[in-house]
Amino acid sequence: MSRVSLEAPVAGWLTSVREVPDPVFSEEMMGAGFAIDPTEGTLVAPCAAEVVLVAPTHHSVTLRTEAGAELLLHIGLETVALQGRGFETHVRDGDRVAAGDLLISFDLDLVGIEAKSLVTPIVLTNSAEFRLELDGLDRVVERGQAIGSIEAKAAPKSLAAGDREVHRSEAEVGFAHGLHARPAARIADCAKRFPGEITITVGGKSAKARSPVAIMALNAKKGDLAQLTATGGQGRRALEALAELISEGEEPPRPTATVAPARAVGANEIAGVTALPGVALGTAVHWRRQVRDTPEQGQGIEAERAALDKALAAVRGRIEARTVQMSGPAAAIARAHIGLLEDEDLNAGALRQIEQGRSAGRAWQLATAAAAEALRAADNPLLRERVADLEDIAAQVTAALAGEAAVGQLELPPETILLADELLPSELMSLPRESVSGLATSGGGATSHIALIAASFGIPTLVAMGPELSRVPEGSRVLLDATAGVLVIEPDENTAARAATAAAQVGADAGDCVTRDGERVRLLANLGGLADVEPALAAGAEGCGLLRTEFLFLDRSDAPSEEEQQATYQAIADALGGRPLTIRTLDIGGDKPVAYIRFPDEQNPALGARGIRTALFRPELIDEQLRAIAAVRGGAIKVMIPMVSSIAELRSVRDRLAALREGVSLGVMVETPAAALIADRLAAEADFLSIGSNDLAQYALAMDRTNPLLAGSIDALHPAVLRLIAMTAEAGQRSGKPVSLCGNLASEPLGALVLLGLGIRELSAVPAALPAVRGALRQVAAADCRLLAERALEAESAAQVRALAAELLNSSGEGDTE
Ligand code: PEP
Ligand code: MG
Repeated sequence: MSRVSLEAPVAGWLTSVREVPDPVFSEEMMGAGFAIDPTEGTLVAPCAAEVVLVAPTHHSVTLRTEAGAELLLHIGLETVALQGRGFETHVRDGDRVAAGDLLISFDLDLVGIEAKSLVTPIVLTNSAEFRLELDGLDRVVERGQAIGSIEAKAAPKSLAAGDREVHRSEAEVGFAHGLHARPAARIADCAKRFPGEITITVGGKSAKARSPVAIMALNAKKGDLAQLTATGGQGRRALEALAELISEGEEPPRPTATVAPARAVGANEIAGVTALPGVALGTAVHWRRQVRDTPEQGQGIEAERAALDKALAAVRGRIEARTVQMSGPAAAIARAHIGLLEDEDLNAGALRQIEQGRSAGRAWQLATAAAAEALRAADNPLLRERVADLEDIAAQVTAALAGEAAVGQLELPPETILLADELLPSELMSLPRESVSGLATSGGGATSHIALIAASFGIPTLVAMGPELSRVPEGSRVLLDATAGVLVIEPDENTAARAATAAAQVGADAGDCVTRDGERVRLLANLGGLADVEPALAAGAEGCGLLRTEFLFLDRSDAPSEEEQQATYQAIADALGGRPLTIRTLDIGGDKPVAYIRFPDEQNPALGARGIRTALFRPELIDEQLRAIAAVRGGAIKVMIPMVSSIAELRSVRDRLAALREGVSLGVMVETPAAALIADRLAAEADFLSIGSNDLAQYALAMDRTNPLLAGSIDALHPAVLRLIAMTAEAGQRSGKPVSLCGNLASEPLGALVLLGLGIRELSAVPAALPAVRGALRQVAAADCRLLAERALEAESAAQVRALAAELLNSSGEGDTE
């Protein structure tokens, strides 16, 4: 049988292989073919065939039909780098399969997030001998739908038997992931430029160099020795070219750590992760850091020393001037930067370089780079943020030495939507805030420094947008919908008008938050310090549901005294004017290290002595803090314990507090799966529960919240996390104890709808998010949110929950205008 019918091996959008954004496929180096952008994670055989090769990393499979046509089915692009993560193969080499038999199942979300693209090329690798015919392209196809056929061409011309001279050479495989599909295609492509037989042998297995499939089947790893033989007059030249290619190991850049999440978006849209919800319409401005030429040689030791001192003082002065109006994360980071400017080792290191004749700028760069290198070498995740701080301070001092304007003095058009690959905290902090309406970064995570600072400034922000962000034309009109997690380039008039109305409505009125059918939700604010109170009240906060006291402790050289703590808590209570103030006891450790407290050596700090567990090895810290809190007068003070996983922890704090002051309300944060699972027992003894969805998601999903690679996946709307939240809400209802939620999920309008449906009546959010959350809750009926929550608990993924919540919000909004 010469003609074989082909069925779509996966459902999705069928398109030409030329559309694949990778020249290995689009230039048909592997052979003719087609591609499907999949909408499901199931790959089946397109026809009856034998399985020739399943990639050791499970992301591709090669089939051979009875007539000898070879088809490579390659899920996604650059997916070899996933090293098998997200793929499960259901066949082995040598198996016979019928059309429709399952070959590989894969995790659409994971691969979509981590790979360059999900688009799946299907290539006829011996298209010199076979012809591929498709019934049509650029259409949606169902799995198993007939899409075309393969037919044998006339018998291939055999190679001219002329020159029989055999040339030999060898090369060490340099490609980081061995000879997988991409290098194999490039090698085959190179071999095709030369006549004669060329063979590659690795570990006793040989392959024809013109066959990418055969090359892949060698399973050659980096460092393996490949023996090459070639016949024909051009054999020597062929081997030189091939040896160079095989050993150079030059790979195209790997996918960056934070590519945009796999979310269906339109052609003029780019998806991202919400750091602070909100909508902004404005002009796209790309922020690109100046690469400064720093002279290597100095102008004399004294002159360079003086220049360095002057630059350090200038940077310090600039930071101090900014810090006056800051609190919370921004203030903590600014303090860290001042600490680095004064760091003796760093200064001594720079002076040594100056004494060796280097310029002040170069000396400072070398000193900070050496310090950063030492921190990286320590391989301690706690030190990661310190490396970022060092890089930041290096850039600031270099700029000061070059006499350049700080970012804040840059001219930005009004209503700028700032787009940045990566932005240093100092750069963000010194921006002319009145001109910046929105921020989008290609890297970062929702809880990265940048995200925290942007949130405290109230700038709607999207992070983890991936390299796509760079394609937004400079000066174009863009709509940053950080609530929906999308940036729209040149939105049409309708979209722009709707967004502008939504943005205006959201800020309009800060009265009670009551749903359409009359359910009241209390909206409180998360605070980092005194300076956050005023914006919180302006945004209509009814009090503070979470005071992150650790910001008072972070990034300084010694702990705040009991008096300093008491004065700070008192000032915040006063500023809140009798509204509730929920003070969380110290939550340090994990991703919040404190230089002056020696933590036990820990392999996994996120699972170590953080939160209330610090009391196990430093009980005096919590006692001192409880004394400071107990001394606060007036106001509705509540105390809340972080990272609880046992009832004993609650009892221990209750006893300590009771010894200091009677009648203070004491609550437990539910942010470990353990606490959620024993929420009934905790609720029986605590005065209230408050769910920390950031950590609950981290621990329930086993995803490090500081890992940018996972920024698009760690989503508290995952049904697993929602089930834990539902359990906690139910436990509260049964025992009559209030349950609130103070993680980032409360700052997301879509999250708020689901939480309301799950029975949470009190949310504590970033101050700047309160208007958007209030607006969303007022737009819906609680009864509809309950139905939404029921469906969310049964949903397959966080993405599905988001889609359901967005559907409810949109349909409720439409009702408004009718
Ligand atoms: C949380 O984990 O959700 C939370 C509110 O605490 P933090 O983000 O400060 O760890
Ligand atoms: Mg937490």
